[in-house]
Amino acid sequence: MEFFLNYLHQKVPQADKSIPGYYRRALTSSEVLLVVYFIICFFLFPLINNGRWEWSPLVFALLSGCCLWMLKRGGVRINLIKYAVVSIGWVCWNVRYFGWNSGVQHMMTLMLVFAFFNVYDKPVNKLLWFLSILTIRVGLFYLSQTFAPIYSMDTNANTIYQTLNTIAFFLMLACACIVFSSSIQETERQLRLRNQILHKEAGTDQLTGLPNRRMMIEQIEQYCRENREQTFCVAIADLDFFKQVNDTYGHKCGDYALMRLTKLMEEHAMGRYSVCRWGGEEFCFFLPGMNLDQAGAVMTDLCFAVETMKLEYNGNEFSITLTIGVEEYDFVSPLDGLLKAADDKLYMGKKAGRNRVVV
Ligand code: GH3
Ligand code: MG
Ligand code: MG
Repeated sequence: MEFFLNYLHQKVPQADKSIPGYYRRALTSSEVLLVVYFIICFFLFPLINNGRWEWSPLVFALLSGCCLWMLKRGGVRINLIKYAVVSIGWVCWNVRYFGWNSGVQHMMTLMLVFAFFNVYDKPVNKLLWFLSILTIRVGLFYLSQTFAPIYSMDTNANTIYQTLNTIAFFLMLACACIVFSSSIQETERQLRLRNQILHKEAGTDQLTGLPNRRMMIEQIEQYCRENREQTFCVAIADLDFFKQVNDTYGHKCGDYALMRLTKLMEEHAMGRYSVCRWGGEEFCFFLPGMNLDQAGAVMTDLCFAVETMKLEYNGNEFSITLTIGVEEYDFVSPLDGLLKAADDKLYMGKKAGRNRVVV
């Protein structure tokens, strides 16, 4: 019950007044099929109705044509109402002239498909629409049982007419369902794509393009889950006296140094480790499958590469250095503890004079 009430009060996306593309395509295909169907009916009637010509199908073909022409104007609801008036009018006319057996009443089911696949209408309106269609259909059935049809078709004529109506109904239903379902699939595909982009953006540092802290933690946790027997190391690096670089050459120069350092680290990694921007001028390294000695050696090599990297900005030549703390996973400590231990070692390295690796 609660679910039902929630559904009724559900908020719908506020589309602009114009009719959404998928809805127009579905209505257009149905209206085109209706026009063709009415014209076929016009030529078929003399064959199944003792040679009598009927003008009603032509009138309905004209009305459907008008609806088709006016599709560009008006919103979703008004177009659906126009479509429904023509279809229900046709059903009423048929039930009155040929009786319930003409099989044309199935066309009203299409109204439900159109109403319920329209995402821009309130659920309460859809429910009202459903009740109206149901009432009209049941009402028509009782009327058809009370009043005899004006024309009585023989069995052959009835078979032909029922077949035509069934084909027309199935074609219209199939077209509408194809349009609606492919629109849902396309929306889903786009959402998935957008989500991937957002996930990547949310895990990437804007300045350097490196993964950020969140992404790195996700990566280490995933490694731990998938490689329970394997050891690994983490390292935290901090640029030495980086504030001085900013103060002396400007913040832009500091940014430039961070980007050059990123490029160097990416080249130096060669698949041995991954690096993320931990924050500010701090970086975190993940060295899978390495023990403390191996990781320490790789980080010492990186320290040397950074120290010897020549930087030049606006004619000013300078260099930077890193202090790094490394810690190995002990298969017991939580990741937080491991990172804290690496950070403590980094602090020790700073106190001991900077530009070094503490293992
Ligand atoms: P220490 O050796 O003790 O780490 O000295 P430090 O100067 O590097 O340390 P401190 O924490 O005092 O300063 C860090 C500086 O890093 C200050 C801040 O402006 C700079 N910084 C952090 N993020 C960025 C950034 O994205 N761009 C630039 N240009 N500077 C940054
Ligand atoms: Mg620093
Ligand atoms: Mg710092």
